[in-house]
Amino acid sequence: MAKKDTSKTNVTARAEAKALQSVCRFCGQKPEVVRVLTPSGKTQMFRKCCAAAGIAA
Ligand SMILES: [Zn+2]
Repeated sequence: MAKKDTSKTNVTARAEAKALQSVCRFCGQKPEVVRVLTPSGKTQMFRKCCAAAGIAA
């Protein structure tokens, strides 16, 4: 139902607001998480924010 009213701008604004409000609980920076595929074919979350902060993910 609500899908009809969801615009691209709205989604972007929401994502930005969410990113601003939340901080990574590991490094305290703005969370920056990417999904990487391991050689075994599993998807793993990699925290770029923690890597930038010097914390081993
Ligand atoms: Zn982090």
